[in-house]
Amino acid sequence: MLVVTKFGGSSLSCATQFEKVKNIVLSDPKRKIVVCSALGKRDKEDTKITDLLYILHAHLKFSVPYQDIWDMIYNRFLGVQADLNISYDIKKDLDLLKAELNKTISQDYLVSRGEYLTSKLMAAYIGYDFVDAKDLLRFNYDGKLDSELTEKNVKLAFSKSQKIVVPGFYGAYPNNSIRLLSRGGSDVTGSLLAKCLNASVYENWTDVSGILAADPRIVKNPHAIKEITYAELRELSYMGASVLHEETVFPVQELNIPINLRNTNEPDNPGTMIRNECTDESHIVTGIAGKKDFISFNIYKDHMSNQVGILRNALEVFAKYNISVEHIPSGIDSFSVVVSSANVDKIKYEVVTDLKRELDADVTIEADLALIAIVGRNMAKRSGICARIFQALGNEGINVKLLTQGSSELNIIIGVSASDYEKTLVALYESVVR
Ligand code: ASP
Repeated sequence: MLVVTKFGGSSLSCATQFEKVKNIVLSDPKRKIVVCSALGKRDKEDTKITDLLYILHAHLKFSVPYQDIWDMIYNRFLGVQADLNISYDIKKDLDLLKAELNKTISQDYLVSRGEYLTSKLMAAYIGYDFVDAKDLLRFNYDGKLDSELTEKNVKLAFSKSQKIVVPGFYGAYPNNSIRLLSRGGSDVTGSLLAKCLNASVYENWTDVSGILAADPRIVKNPHAIKEITYAELRELSYMGASVLHEETVFPVQELNIPINLRNTNEPDNPGTMIRNECTDESHIVTGIAGKKDFISFNIYKDHMSNQVGILRNALEVFAKYNISVEHIPSGIDSFSVVVSSANVDKIKYEVVTDLKRELDADVTIEADLALIAIVGRNMAKRSGICARIFQALGNEGINVKLLTQGSSELNIIIGVSASDYEKTLVALYESVVR
């Protein structure tokens, strides 16, 4: 049995966090592969090493004096090493890196040093072998992962040592130059390693005890979800719940490897399990998430119900402007096309003009729409959820502008005025989620 264990930046921000990580890893011999992000924020005002490295790169590129930024990076690493008396000579590696700094240094290479140095420190601290991600995750020149080669590399590395620390967030092109993943990409590194080694679990340790059932900035103390399916997670993430990097699920889902989200600061809490199928039926609604800033194009035409092809003509207008469509709620002689404001803001009047011309219909715009997804695998084939939703919203005087339900009955989407967004989330949490 083998567990891939990934720690995010907040779990690696200082010596105290390193100590917690060591305890977690060494408390379970199955935790054989450890993936590290770069030193994160120690408190709200602090800056992540990754961000400092991006800033350092910008200073170098534009020939701005960079000594202060460099000192901040240098001192953070040296501080952890000194506080824990780690035998790895990080000063030597930092001095080598300093000598490499110049105007043309690759941004991907420089930024990847955050994960690289953090992982070397961690490996020495917990007595694991360090394996560089550039020798594992290999990309083609088009940026696509070479899955076969990556799997071969990972299996080979694991056959040589069964206790390894791997830096997250990067890999390499065929010429060995570094390729960064997108921000938060260490989650993906962990997922890929878990897939290559067919791990029994992929553990992802952060600073929250799992996925919360609602946005804690709006709903007070929402509970953490015990179990959630990959499909539910996708719905919640798509609607704005920021949990894992969005590419994380795909590699492990293929082999049905569960992801366990855990809290480094509360290691006894079992956190959230994400898997293909869940058995927990304690909640009918798993969670809610939402986003403001949607626009609805409302289209009316007498006798529309008899006109074949009008929907296709409308969608062609959106396709022409390369606008992705979120929802199409419809009536008898009307339908609406809901899109994200960010995608149409500058061209909305052109879209209206085209729609009017192509459809010979009345078209109005309703801006400032918020959408909220109520997600739950246990909602399917159960009655009464909508009644509770409408009762709760009615009690708060919230007007529902749009309502859709996916055919799998996994989610119900509600559209309300953006000014009612926060009130709606709270009302829904209290009535159907808690
Ligand atoms: N350190 C990188 C970031 O801040 C990658 C990661 O944490 O996953 O985005």
